[in-house]
Amino acid sequence: MLIIGNWKAYIESTTKAKALFASAKRLSAKGVHEVVVAPAYPYIGMGAGIKGLILGAQDVSETTGGAQTGEVAAGQLADLGVSYVIAGHSERRARGETDEVVTEKVRHIFAHGMVPVLCVGERERDSDAQYLKEVRQQISVVMEALSQKERLQVVLAYEPVWAIGKTGADAITAGDLAEMVLYIRKILGDYIPGRATTKVKILYGGSVDAENIRMLASGTGVEGFLVGRASADVAAFSGLVKALS
Ligand code: PEP
Repeated sequence: MLIIGNWKAYIESTTKAKALFASAKRLSAKGVHEVVVAPAYPYIGMGAGIKGLILGAQDVSETTGGAQTGEVAAGQLADLGVSYVIAGHSERRARGETDEVVTEKVRHIFAHGMVPVLCVGERERDSDAQYLKEVRQQISVVMEALSQKERLQVVLAYEPVWAIGKTGADAITAGDLAEMVLYIRKILGDYIPGRATTKVKILYGGSVDAENIRMLASGTGVEGFLVGRASADVAAFSGLVKALS
């Protein structure tokens, strides 16, 4: 499984960052799961010096860099050895990031040889299933802009906004997650021929912890997890990775 820890802005200490890097590296070295850490920008350079650590980034600029005060360009992340870059996280979308901006980000990520982790997910579930349209739109706008080869390389993180940042009990149920994974594969089928849709990795994110991760992994069709809050604590993160094994 692919497990990506999104530290968000939880970490404010280099000592803590070092401990989390060391733990993620040990977990990945076991060879059972691919464990990635996505620190806030200030800690990426620190992680870049650690051999064997798989680095991610939480975001990237939609610009090509240059005269862009405050932005971090894809080329800079690639130069530091970042492998995965999150694009379209709901906490960025909530600040006005549109599907078109997310698409630009994905293009820059690919242009620099990194893998985009495209976050999609409805804000809430309504009884007339409008939320399905919301997810379809988020996926379609990006897929339409990509080549066939790129479409297969995108990692899709399904993260229902209503389940993010809460406690484990608020995560989605296994049944609802399984349905959503099938629905996402159906959408992918509009852009990728036949069985090839199964090549696209689908992750789940939203209040994942050591207690619920096995339930979320069994029979749901997900191939990994995007973890927020629990990834900012050594015991909680290693506990959930170990619970999967
Ligand atoms: C996230 O925001 O990507 C996320 C999954 O957060 P949390 O695990 O804290 O719900």
